[in-house]
Amino acid sequence: ITLKHHVDQGRAHESDMELGTTKEKLELKGENDVIVRVLYLSCDPYLRGRIRSTQDSYIPPFTPGKPMGGYGLGKVLQSSDPNFKEGDVVSGVMDWADYSHAFRSTKVDPEAVPLSYYLGALGMTGFTAYVGFFKICEPKKGETIYVSAASGAVGQMVGQFARLFGCHVVGSAGSQQKVDLLTSKFGYHEAFNYKEEPDLDAALKRYCPGGIDMYFENVGGKMLDAVLLNMKDHGRIAVCGMVSQYNKAEQDPIYNLSYVIKRRLKLEGFIQTDHLDLQPEFFKSVIGWFKEGKLNYVEDIADGLEKAPGALIGMLDGKNVGKQSVKVSDV
Ligand code: NDP
Repeated sequence: ITLKHHVDQGRAHESDMELGTTKEKLELKGENDVIVRVLYLSCDPYLRGRIRSTQDSYIPPFTPGKPMGGYGLGKVLQSSDPNFKEGDVVSGVMDWADYSHAFRSTKVDPEAVPLSYYLGALGMTGFTAYVGFFKICEPKKGETIYVSAASGAVGQMVGQFARLFGCHVVGSAGSQQKVDLLTSKFGYHEAFNYKEEPDLDAALKRYCPGGIDMYFENVGGKMLDAVLLNMKDHGRIAVCGMVSQYNKAEQDPIYNLSYVIKRRLKLEGFIQTDHLDLQPEFFKSVIGWFKEGKLNYVEDIADGLEKAPGALIGMLDGKNVGKQSVKVSDV
């Protein structure tokens, strides 16, 4: 799948990407290289930033005409890296293609949990939830946490981690189906559909009457502005993402930033790759919780590489129910 051209503002469309074939032969490039048969690909909101012509984030734009890429799972076909051999299944960064080089690869155990979990609950998004909640939020038992985009890949894990930890957990999402999942599967005590709330400040006062100790920020814009009015003194805001802003050339203004001072808040942005030292404890804890039956995981898997552009755009539009991935091939 290649990007046809950059899209700097407004929605990107499926038609901005295309499926093609190449006669270029994949060959190992020197030492420590791996070529895989791609099994699964991950659709993540940060990819919207890579469809832009300008680099406004930590990762460069895609080059039109070249394969798009991102997190994926693959089966090793050839390896010049002593850490991997033919037949291993790895997670890593790979092209949106049937076959690809794999970068930053890690071997995964396909027997421990269903393979696709390594793209979500046990992959980048689950790890993001783990870092954001346990490290950036600095949680204390009994505190109230509010999570936006709460049913998505990151949000569903944050809710469950917070519930297991002993917090009061409140979340919002964009449809009744998602709101039902929040309370039935993802550990949320209270949940609401933000699209049906004309006054977000009033909604937060209703669902978090005692105020918010921790906000796990996934959407930004108007939601952040309303949350600031409802934070308790010494509250923490883990700024994970701002998906409501990713299509915009100019960011929405935030009017209530002075509440960071009035309420003595800690507002901290984070990128999961800066916290890789936490990965061993993340895998140990999360695999353990799955084995004990303490975690649920909902994913939305599109079938076939050709479905990847539609799956990506659909996720940015909120059509995904759970973690959006694409299955490219059987193991
Ligand atoms: P999700 O699975 O939550 O999918 C994106 C969701 O965003 C949609 O389903 C939709 O849910 C919601 N959304 C889309 N547009 C809007 C809007 N205008 N206003 C409010 N909500 C909207 O994605 P992820 O869980 O993968 O990512 C969640 C957040 O985490 C993103 O902001 C992402 O960029 C960030 N992230 C940050 C990382 C880091 O290291 N800092 C790493 C990974 C992710 P709904 O129907 O509920 O509106």
